[in-house]
Amino acid sequence: MIDSFSQDTKTEICAARSKLRCCRVSELYGMLFGAARFDRSGVSLVTENPAVSLCCIKLMREIGGFRGVSDRELIDLSDPRRIGQLFAALGLDESSSCDKIEESVLHCQFCRWSFVKGVFLSCGTLTAPGNAYHLEFLMRNEEAALSFYSYLESLGVSPRITERRDKTRGVYFKDSEGIVDILGYIGANRAAFELLNVKIYKDLRNNANRVSNCELANIGKTVAAATEQISAIDTIIRSGRSDELPGELRATLDLRAAFPDATLSELAAMHTPPITKSGVNHRLRRLIEFSKKC
Ligand SMILES: [Zn+2]
Repeated sequence: MIDSFSQDTKTEICAARSKLRCCRVSELYGMLFGAARFDRSGVSLVTENPAVSLCCIKLMREIGGFRGVSDRELIDLSDPRRIGQLFAALGLDESSSCDKIEESVLHCQFCRWSFVKGVFLSCGTLTAPGNAYHLEFLMRNEEAALSFYSYLESLGVSPRITERRDKTRGVYFKDSEGIVDILGYIGANRAAFELLNVKIYKDLRNNANRVSNCELANIGKTVAAATEQISAIDTIIRSGRSDELPGELRATLDLRAAFPDATLSELAAMHTPPITKSGVNHRLRRLIEFSKKC
């Protein structure tokens, strides 16, 4: 199945170039941090999205100074000299761990989310709205996943981590608010709006269901009460003891028998003179009590 929502979102994000150079460095660092392989012996970013590979290539040309090499080589590096060149361009020294986020690479306040944007471009997936809410970053190993997890927490969002059979780990979100926030921060505005629209629609529909369930419950209660009253009145009439009732109860009995579908308010208004709804209710209860002796 083609994951078109994720791909469209990535294409949208790639179209907006980060304004500051420091943020573009952070974005490239994010793309490499989220890559299938990122260490000093090899760098490999696998993507089916041409916009993502083009975005990565442009950043590597600009930041890493890569020129005169094939596009293929730009995202599948094995030459130690070129890898060294790339690490130096990012500001990573020999002691830096490739599976731990080096925050010294991130300079301004926007860099922090530019990094997440880069990670999403290389290993993120987003479930289309309408299904369950799910945004996931598939990290190449546990150490990288834990580092990214803590990093996201420091940005004020609350991810979770999946266990997998292989060494990869998914850092993911299932709450719609968290996902919408992240999409907004990384520049995926269209996807954020689509998710919000679906959420609003779902909330409205749930509310509508709650209201109609509540109405149905009330109707059910009214029907049950009316059925009990009608059956009591039937018992009284068949017993031939309705003449024993006081005049006002007799009037209510006749009206209820004649108008079995009328509401209490309607019955109240039919009395001469009209009585209150609670008055009708009280009389009906007395009729039910009387019927138990018939
Ligand atoms: Zn920046």
